[in-house]
Amino acid sequence: MAKQEFKAESKKLLDMVINSIYSKREVFLRELISNASDAIDKIYYRALTDDNISFNKDSYYIKIDPNKDTRTLKVMDTGIGMTKEELESNLGTIAKSGSFNFKNENELKEGYDIIGQFGVGFYAAFMVADKVTVVTKSLDSEEAYKWESQGSDGYTIEPAEKAEIGTEITLYLKENTDDDNYDEFLEEYTLRQIIKKYSDFIRYPIKMDVTERKLKEGTEDEYEDVIEEQTINSLVPIWKKNKSELTDEDYVNFYNEKRYGFDKPLRHLHINVDGSVRYNAILYIPESAPYNYYTREYEKGLELYSNGVLIMEKCADLLPDYFSFVKGMVDSEDLSLNISREMLQHDRQLKIIEKNINKKIKKELLNILRDDRENYETFFKAFGQQLKYGVYSDYGMHKEVLQDLLLFYSSKEKKLVTLEEYVSRMPEDQKYIYYATGDSIDRIEKLPQTELVADKGYEILYFTDEIDEFAIKMLMNYKEKEFKSVSSGDLGIDEEDSKESKEKEEENKDLFAAMKEILNDKVKDVRVSKRLKSHPVCLTAEGDISIEMEKVINAMPD
Ligand code: ADP
Ligand code: MG
Repeated sequence: MAKQEFKAESKKLLDMVINSIYSKREVFLRELISNASDAIDKIYYRALTDDNISFNKDSYYIKIDPNKDTRTLKVMDTGIGMTKEELESNLGTIAKSGSFNFKNENELKEGYDIIGQFGVGFYAAFMVADKVTVVTKSLDSEEAYKWESQGSDGYTIEPAEKAEIGTEITLYLKENTDDDNYDEFLEEYTLRQIIKKYSDFIRYPIKMDVTERKLKEGTEDEYEDVIEEQTINSLVPIWKKNKSELTDEDYVNFYNEKRYGFDKPLRHLHINVDGSVRYNAILYIPESAPYNYYTREYEKGLELYSNGVLIMEKCADLLPDYFSFVKGMVDSEDLSLNISREMLQHDRQLKIIEKNINKKIKKELLNILRDDRENYETFFKAFGQQLKYGVYSDYGMHKEVLQDLLLFYSSKEKKLVTLEEYVSRMPEDQKYIYYATGDSIDRIEKLPQTELVADKGYEILYFTDEIDEFAIKMLMNYKEKEFKSVSSGDLGIDEEDSKESKEKEEENKDLFAAMKEILNDKVKDVRVSKRLKSHPVCLTAEGDISIEMEKVINAMPD
């Protein structure tokens, strides 16, 4: 029996494309501009392989032209255009991508930037327009043609007049309703915003006539509206520029332009990777935490671009929680996008990028710590707490990554020190890394429990953040040295004169028993202490949990 072909129910398919693929209708412009860019790329490629065609960069551009009187929006390009057959097959068949075929036929793989692949982007125009016309003249044809469609009831193709090679698409915007306003796509301001957002780094100029109020020539206070053709996009993205051409100021400007933060960045990282997954990234370590950083409202993530086109504004998968303060963007040509190009089909490439980025961030933080201590402390004051949460979270899984980035206040140095510095200074007879917990440095200084340790000449780390001790419990040890609270029962210090204290214990047996009774169930035991010098009494914890930790745990909501 002969095989039957599936009949695609084109109308339904088109409705689906129009109504259910994209989450924001403004992306129609991204799709049309991407197609225009692909069309120019194709001429560029042909010029490389055909001596009869020259490519003079200046004559290739994309133009956006809104007209409020006719309520139309035009997107035109000087790209390769389409023949009648191509119009038929590319715009008459849903899910047919001429660009995808072009890539395959020409075996373009490495470093080629053609964006199209699914053959549906064009129809996004029907999200905002109820009629679309495409007038086009191909590089390979003497005649121009006009394709016209009102959406699901089909299309017509007829001969047309067009002098130059290229394509001109006209969208007849839908009528406004109470809920939907389409006029915004005729506003210079909105169009500029959308172009900047999604298509800023398209490699060909995207032009638009812009009205500007200017001082009238020859006058000092008279203004007039001047219409000027401007290039809206930035063309070459900063991350594709040579690092040696860029100054610190360029990176700060990019940070500000992108509104990654309202502060200035402490450091930037410019990454170009040519490995199994190719990507470029510009990352920033901010100077201060956003007001909502330590709340649930804060959303981590990096901007994700595919071939210079924005795919996701906040891709959370690119950053672990403990580095959630990092801002910036990643651009990769190796992502497998889903059909809406707003998500990825699978996250294998993302995972590789995330791992890679993660290592670089850690390395950069260690660099700052080593070379620029003052700035590191600024950073740590803003984000140190997050690093400590990172050590604590996931059962201490990330401690290896994070332990060398931690700082604690030192009793000896009277400033923040690293664990590495602490351990490297430890006298030979010191067994543990000692810490004391309290609300403030001042209060800890006055703790009776610190006396014996300090008297021995040992350094004590002061834990003033609630999270500190929890994080340390996850670390358990650093360079094989265990952590020990100064208020724990056994300090591991050779406590002299046990005979004398035994005697004292005996002498005061009745007194202790009486004290214990009076304190009732508030204490477990009353003993002679060997660790006190100038204080008469102190509290000691028996088990693993210190008094301070107990306080925090008790204060937690159930
Ligand atoms: P995709 O871009 O994923 O291929 P589209 O639906 O956006 O899918 O476009 C379908 C096809 O129509 C493209 O692959 C291309 O061959 C053709 N096309 C669309 N716009 C243009 C244009 N401005 N110039 C030339 N060809 C175009
Ligand atoms: Mg497309």
